[in-house]
Amino acid sequence: MRRLLSALVVVLAVLTGGRQLQGCASAEEALAEPEAERALVLVSVDGFRWDYLDRAPEGGALQWIAGGVRAERLVPVFPSKTFPNHYSLVTGLHPESHGIVGNTMRDPSRLEDGEPARFSLSNRQALVDGRWWGGEPIWVTAETQGVPTATVFWPGSEAEIGGVRPTTWLPYDGDMAYRDRVETALDWLDAGAGLATLYFEGVDTAGHRFGPDAPEVDRAIAEVDAALAALVEGLREIGRLDDTDLVVVSDHGMTPVSRDRVVVLDGAVDYDAVDVDWGEVVGLWPDETVDVDALVARVSALPHLTAMRKADVPARLHYSASDRIPPVVVLVDPGWTATSQGYLDRNPSRPSGGAHGFDPASSDMGALFIARGPRFREGVTTGPIHAVDVYGILAAALALDPAPTEGDPEAVERVLR
Ligand code: AMP
Ligand code: ZN
Ligand code: ZN
Repeated sequence: MRRLLSALVVVLAVLTGGRQLQGCASAEEALAEPEAERALVLVSVDGFRWDYLDRAPEGGALQWIAGGVRAERLVPVFPSKTFPNHYSLVTGLHPESHGIVGNTMRDPSRLEDGEPARFSLSNRQALVDGRWWGGEPIWVTAETQGVPTATVFWPGSEAEIGGVRPTTWLPYDGDMAYRDRVETALDWLDAGAGLATLYFEGVDTAGHRFGPDAPEVDRAIAEVDAALAALVEGLREIGRLDDTDLVVVSDHGMTPVSRDRVVVLDGAVDYDAVDVDWGEVVGLWPDETVDVDALVARVSALPHLTAMRKADVPARLHYSASDRIPPVVVLVDPGWTATSQGYLDRNPSRPSGGAHGFDPASSDMGALFIARGPRFREGVTTGPIHAVDVYGILAAALALDPAPTEGDPEAVERVLR
């Protein structure tokens, strides 16, 4: 194998105290034979809103891939956040079923030192803890059916799920250059991986910082486009372009937020008795002294907010059946921010830029689904595809026997040959 892989083995060995060295050494052997006769690369462009495709460079890789199958838009799961959506894309399950109900979570059914176990994007211990991750991600389906997999980042790929990890994987590193991510995936495909994932965060980052309409977002789109062009070119060089399907998705869109569109909760919520998960979806965890119906009524009386007990969340959002979902869920109108006066005082220029997490049915939360390759139809634009449909599409393209999903089986026929 190439220099890069050897370097990565060393890096991984350092990062994980040597544990992964064995994994990677055997991975090299596992990847060496037999060479998969078909492959699929699943790419996520975080925060790529469905209509950004019109802003992709003319004649570039995104437009070329969209010349295969292009869904009008991909409808995310609720909440339209990174971790719930990435994990729905690869499991075909809604968050209430796979357990990743937010980027930040607490699990009252599992105590650690007497407190509910906590999950967040920056908590590495939680990220690698399989107890958070339910369902069966596509790499587990593939591995258990003899197809080696390689992930250059994907939420969940660092945990052992059902006793299985990708043959090769990397701990998330937002500083890794796009070209190195692509080279790594190519190396692993060259060595026989049948499924590889790639992840790019720059479009989401620019959308948050500058808002979805900013020129910085166009630049971030162009950077992803260049990385995808390198991927296509690299596949051609290793002779795998003709048998590899490319599926490019995103997890959610982006909408502008502003200091002109804020709702302050202070008058409706007693913060001493109610623990608040702040965000585009607000979660309320009232203690036993709180009259919950009165709390729901007070918050719902505020403009641009709808509060409800989790059992009353509309069925289309599939956001009721998990201990990790807060007892009271507050839906915020897209583009609005629910917050506290203290936050506004401490952050005089916030909120600004862009945000997501809102109702998946809103146009600005719409995400991307494009695909091109031997198993996909060509020159086809389909109606909306839901995030939970993607697992079934991946499994069918890879000729795998899928685990049960909550996706629409007909989506497979709409996009595959
Ligand atoms: P969001 O604002 O919900 O779109 O979250 C995007 C952020 O999630 C990225 O900017 C990364 O910092 C973080 N992120 C994405 N993938 C991972 C991962 N596999 N592990 C840890 N953090 C991640
Ligand atoms: Zn995201
Ligand atoms: Zn984001």
